Parts: sequence; C-alpha cells; structure tokens
Amino acid sequence: MSEVQQTLVLIKPDAVRRGLVGEILRRYEAKGLTVEAMELRRVDASFADRHYAEHVGKAWYPELRDFITSGPLVALVLAGERAVEAVRTLNGATDGVAAAPGSIRGDLCASKQANVVHASDSPESAEREVRLWFPGV
Ligand code: ADP
Ligand code: MG
Repeated sequence: MSEVQQTLVLIKPDAVRRGLVGEILRRYEAKGLTVEAMELRRVDASFADRHYAEHVGKAWYPELRDFITSGPLVALVLAGERAVEAVRTLNGATDGVAAAPGSIRGDLCASKQANVVHASDSPESAEREVRLWFPGV
C-alpha cells in the first residue's frame, strides 16, 4: 500500500554559507522526492523556539538557537512515498562525525550542531512543522 507523506526540511545556515544548497537538493530530487514548497528565509529567536520546542531548555539549545538564526536557510516541503523516513535516512545521524558515509551529513559535515540539514522526525512532527513554516501548503 502506498503511503505518500510530506516532510519539512531545512537546509541550515552553515550549508547555505558553504554553497551546498544545490548539492543537497540534488540528493533529495535524485531519490524521487518532490519539492512542494521552497523558500530562503531568516528566522528570529522566537520562531526558532517554536520550531525547536522540544529542545528549548537543553544545555546546548542557546547555541543551537544562535546557529539557526545566524543567516539565511532554505526551508522546503518534500513529498513522496514514506517521505519522513526517506529523508531521515538520506540525512543520516545527527552527529556528522558519526553519520554514515553516503548520507548527507556523513558526506558533508563533521559537527554535532552545524550538521547542514533538518528533517521532521515523525509524521506528527511533519504535520506540525509544515503548518508552522508553510501555513498554506
Ligand atoms: P536531529 O536534527 O537529527 O533530529 P535533534 O532533534 O536531536 O537531532 O537535535 C536538533 C538539532 O540540535 C541537531 O540537528 C543539531 O543541530 C543540534 N544538536 C543536537 N544535539 C546537539 C548537541 N549535543 N550539541 C550541539 N548541538 C546539538
Ligand atoms: Mg530532531
């Protein structure tokens, strides 16, 4: 049975600064995912707190907030068969050092924080995050 989903992806400020937007988009498109929305955005601290609500209060959160608000990022909605899982697998583990070679993080970064991409971690998170970033989509 097919299960087409949407998921929210961020190409984070480190990746935009490093000129990796095309390389990262290429990988999602090559997988067969469809871009349903895409925008270059800058977010402020209060928006960051809403996006990362589950992490507000953690010791490393203030640094994450500084990082995610440090410059433009590319927000996108991707759609496809089990897109939430497909994108998490393409992205790789959170820590770029430990992420598998072949994954986006494994190939493109070596940091726990500046790890080039974000993706929703469940269909429920995807629904919440798509609504937060792209209310009309
Ligand atoms: P993921 O992005 O893989 O879903 P988390 O939801 O656990 O990972 O964390 C959200 C983001 O917070 C990570 O992508 C990363 O940028 C940052 N982060 C997570 N853990 C740490 C940490 N221990 N130190 C610094 N930054 C972290
Ligand atoms: Mg997460």
